[in-house]
Amino acid sequence: MGLRPFSNNIRKPELLAPAGDLRRCLTAIRYGADAVYIGGRSFSLRSRASNFTMDDIRQACAFASEHGARIHVTVNIIPHNEDFEGLGEYLQQLQEAGVHAIIVASPAIMALAREKAPKLEIHCSTQLSVTNAGAAEFFRKKLGADRVVLARECTMEDVRKITEKCEAETEAFIHGGMCVNYSGRCTLSNRMTLRDANRGGCAQSCRWLYHLYENGSELSNENLMTLGSKDLMCADWIWPLMQAGVSSFKIEGRMKTEYYVACVVSAYRHLIDEIAENGGPLSEERLAWHRKQIMYAENRSTFSGFYGGRAESSSLIYHMTSNADVNHDFLGTVKAYDRDKGTALIETRNLFSRDEAVQILSPYGINDTFRIPWIRDEEGNELDASRRPMVTVEIPVPFEAHEEDILRRARI
Ligand code: SF4
Repeated sequence: MGLRPFSNNIRKPELLAPAGDLRRCLTAIRYGADAVYIGGRSFSLRSRASNFTMDDIRQACAFASEHGARIHVTVNIIPHNEDFEGLGEYLQQLQEAGVHAIIVASPAIMALAREKAPKLEIHCSTQLSVTNAGAAEFFRKKLGADRVVLARECTMEDVRKITEKCEAETEAFIHGGMCVNYSGRCTLSNRMTLRDANRGGCAQSCRWLYHLYENGSELSNENLMTLGSKDLMCADWIWPLMQAGVSSFKIEGRMKTEYYVACVVSAYRHLIDEIAENGGPLSEERLAWHRKQIMYAENRSTFSGFYGGRAESSSLIYHMTSNADVNHDFLGTVKAYDRDKGTALIETRNLFSRDEAVQILSPYGINDTFRIPWIRDEEGNELDASRRPMVTVEIPVPFEAHEEDILRRARI
């Protein structure tokens, strides 16, 4: 199950990352995820983020197996009668592909999976809103759930009690987007866009900007209203969640970029490992350092969810600031490093210029900032800047870089 013991008899949890396509899945594993959850093109929420063909799923399983990681597949739609067509065969294909677990929100799909693909672990989706031990035990005993993904609305006390009393494993969210409603119990998107949030079509209507009226008069046309919640960020809750015995720490975000996946996975990997090595909580100074690494990926305000108790109105974003909080740009990925020349070939993503200060984010660590003395295109011509995405350029890097490392730049 990906659980590793460490001192004080506290188990080291699985770090579970999201991936919207094969490339992001491999990135998550390279940057330290113990498991990755992905979605096929059918039967999954976030179907718009799901670009995995069955062949991609097979490749993801093969790569995961080489690296001692696991693949979980979301089959978490709230199905209507017509949604079952082809589902049994799909579950069998997942089992044959080497998938370890499916994440499910429907008792009918759980029963079908037990019958058609009994080797697949069943993980109860957060869509089931499990907030108490009785519900968790019900899903384990009656429907054979191996793991229960806890509702994001659980307090730490809820997490402790459920994990202690339920014999199935528990999985808790540690980072990413939140629903303003109980996850899976929302029809905002259905009403406003005719896109069914529980069949993969959420339009995130809670995050739109709204004009607010009272008795026909607009209250303010300067500050538009949004219901959107801040994102979850749980650096401070990692140790209590480990003490509670939670088996898996989940990062939300199958719609997120490769850079986000690499940055957040890497940051939580280092945090969890450092706590494990320490055998207990970290100093405030070390926690502050880890928080900073996590926030290098964020472009939204964050809060620590419900773990500390009921979330206040300050957990909502009333006046959305778009990308105002983005603090790093993803410039490209390393395709090769030449030790003799001390240069790297970069597949570009965003504009960068000669003399700019940049940094390499790598599964092997975060290196010091360095300046780019020159940039050459594929023909060896010197450039003052790399302006085109998805082309290859050469730059000097003053330390060893590795294939698929990420080149990034801090925004001043
Ligand atoms: S509209 Fe917002 S609250 Fe509703 S399901 Fe979508 S993300 Fe969640």
